[in-house]
Amino acid sequence: MATELRDFQSKIGTIARINIAVALAVVVLKYIAYQVSGSVALFSDALESVVNVVTAIAALVAIRVSAKPADSDHPFGHHKAEFLAAMFVGAMIAVAAVLILIKAYGGLVYGVTLEHPSLGIAFNAGAAAVNAGWAWLLVSRGTSGRSAALVADGHHLFTDVITSVGVIVGLVLALWTGWHFIDPLIAAVVALNILWMGYKIAIQSMSRLLDQAASPDIERRIRGVIETNGIGALEAHDIRTRQAGRALFIEFHLVVPGSMTVEEAHVICDRLENSIERTIDGSEVVIHVEPEYKAKPDESGAVVL
Ligand code: ZN
Ligand code: ZN
Repeated sequence: MATELRDFQSKIGTIARINIAVALAVVVLKYIAYQVSGSVALFSDALESVVNVVTAIAALVAIRVSAKPADSDHPFGHHKAEFLAAMFVGAMIAVAAVLILIKAYGGLVYGVTLEHPSLGIAFNAGAAAVNAGWAWLLVSRGTSGRSAALVADGHHLFTDVITSVGVIVGLVLALWTGWHFIDPLIAAVVALNILWMGYKIAIQSMSRLLDQAASPDIERRIRGVIETNGIGALEAHDIRTRQAGRALFIEFHLVVPGSMTVEEAHVICDRLENSIERTIDGSEVVIHVEPEYKAKPDESGAVVL
């Protein structure tokens, strides 16, 4: 199990490093696109990709930190580092959106001169294709590995692809109609969309940072395991779960006959802890033992054995 986790983490670490290389390549392509065209929207798009490089590095650091084993300073592990990184990514998206808005405003007020726009479009489209492929990979890998930082990074890259598409559409329209103000206008619209995505990512990570419970499906599975392995005990109640990255902390009260010896109760606890930890990936279980007068059979979610 421990080796499996290490393998998984080194695989994720490799993904994060490729992530940074891809982001750097995209920045170069987009900067060339801006240089050859002089388009404000293409410049904004390149700036947004600089933010991608910064967030990719944040994801790499988060994965390193969250993989560190528990120590005396952080006895529950460092799993939440990934949520912090996801929030940082959300903030960086907001910064990128503001930068695009400032550029768009400048373009609207002072006007835009387009030099070789079709060459700029070609470079930008190439960068967008690289981003789209990589974003898809990040989200699918991050989801299967429950890495909030990788998923956030993948979602961020998708917003980047939307930016590129918006910018290209704007440029084509500007050229077609001769109305060059469309170029910064489209960039402004895309910036607002990016702002919305950043807000959603930040809100989601915040909820998880505040000890979000496991999904109802996982809580049902926990109750099922207690039901089949709780022989000898009378009831389990006050079942509480909280997620921290890939770790899931589970605790509950176990009611046993008051006359039961500590030794017997401990055997039941060990059996329950082991069977839950085997069934629920990444879980750590703590059980509080109580005599029968503490039973709460009417509590919703109580498991009567
Ligand atoms: Zn209790
Ligand atoms: Zn023990």
